[in-house]
Amino acid sequence: MIDQSLLRQWDNNHVWHPFTAMQAYVDERAPIITDADGFHLIDASGKRYLDGISSLWCNVHGHRVPEIDAAIRGQLDRVAHSTLLGLSSGPSIELARALVERAPAGLSRVFYSDSGATAVEVALKIAFQYHRQKAGGSDRRNLFVCVGGAYHGDTLGSISVGGIDLFHGIYGGLLFPTVRVPSPVVFRIPEGHTRESYLAWCFDELERVIIENRDRIAALVMEPLVQGAAGILVHPTGYLARARALTRDHGLPLIADEVAVGFGRTGTLFACEQEDVAPDLLCVAKGITGGYLPVAATLATDEIYAAFLGHPHEGRTFFHGHTYTGNPLGCAAGLASLKRLEDRNVLANVQANAAIIERRLSELRDHPHVGEIRQKGVMIGIELVADRATKATFPPPRRMGHLVTLAARQRGVILRPLGDVVVLMPAPGMPCDLIETLCDAAIASIDEATSS
Ligand SMILES: *Cc1c(COP(=O)(O)O)cnc(C)c1O
Repeated sequence: MIDQSLLRQWDNNHVWHPFTAMQAYVDERAPIITDADGFHLIDASGKRYLDGISSLWCNVHGHRVPEIDAAIRGQLDRVAHSTLLGLSSGPSIELARALVERAPAGLSRVFYSDSGATAVEVALKIAFQYHRQKAGGSDRRNLFVCVGGAYHGDTLGSISVGGIDLFHGIYGGLLFPTVRVPSPVVFRIPEGHTRESYLAWCFDELERVIIENRDRIAALVMEPLVQGAAGILVHPTGYLARARALTRDHGLPLIADEVAVGFGRTGTLFACEQEDVAPDLLCVAKGITGGYLPVAATLATDEIYAAFLGHPHEGRTFFHGHTYTGNPLGCAAGLASLKRLEDRNVLANVQANAAIIERRLSELRDHPHVGEIRQKGVMIGIELVADRATKATFPPPRRMGHLVTLAARQRGVILRPLGDVVVLMPAPGMPCDLIETLCDAAIASIDEATSS
């Protein structure tokens, strides 16, 4: 193993980290993770940290999980990778079958890719092409309806349907036009509205936008129940079902991006189940392999799939694919992870842990710098504010969310904020004593950072 200070030097000299202000990063001496043990990460100096964000929302059962390790090793003894272009592979077939058996009704076809962004990109292209190829279809359907603040990944298509203004500001010239509906959340209510009237307006807007553009719409894209990267924004009950009803009434595909919420994080295997919604296209990634390997999938209905059938020369093929699509090691991990989810009743664990977290975080209800605590299952956002009464934000240069992360690191817990929203995203399989540790550290770190 290379010496720690050399690793640091090479990290600073060569690695360009994602979503990272590199100049500040270099000064901060972030932990260099070299090992893991269950729900802890261990850095090059041997210091242990509780993984409080599921390694960016993907880890499900902890690290070095015996069954998943064994599944990958077993597959490694057979073949690490072979292509799905013109060939097939055992684990990719088995995982497709397992996903279809568990997904909302009607989703019967699995198109693999490698990340959440590609899973969404694939769904957008499928929806677009579907309208052009289905019987009585239309080539005018160019418009995607998306939700304010939405995050669907960082490729150009997925940024286009995203609602994060910062990215639209920088990359706007590269993006295709969309129509946005307001995110149905009420932390900061626009003037002239009450909570109820604003939510009612959001529901009405969804309907108005769909009706107004109905002949031009390719699909409605949304994150069901929780908008993750927007700051763990939890939608009111009924919004997803309403979106499904409206899209169904107007013959429009609904694309559900379950990249963050899928595989148990909200308390059900898929978030759509909670409102009895079956989307036409379902995107999954992050948790699909238990957080081990980059596998993603876009599930589609038979109706959509049928529009791509025909003689090869007709050109109805879906023209998309990535080299490592359906990677056998990743699919083997995915199968082992799904089995463990069920064997260990991880969904019940999520529900029990969600109750513990809700109780523990109620200690922050009257905190002068906590504006709102949002939670669905084991997805939690604690929005920090300079002033509780006015909901005024801290000046961005103070990087308050980041200061909480640094304070938590001192306490042996890894967090990563979204601006001034402190995010807790424990792995669905985390045991309850570690959930208490996570809550202790989060509360103490918020106290420390906001009182400095
Ligand atoms: C993380 C995320 C993505 C992007 O996934 P990547 O694997 O990072 O490309 C897409 N949609 C949602 C809802 C996400 O949370």
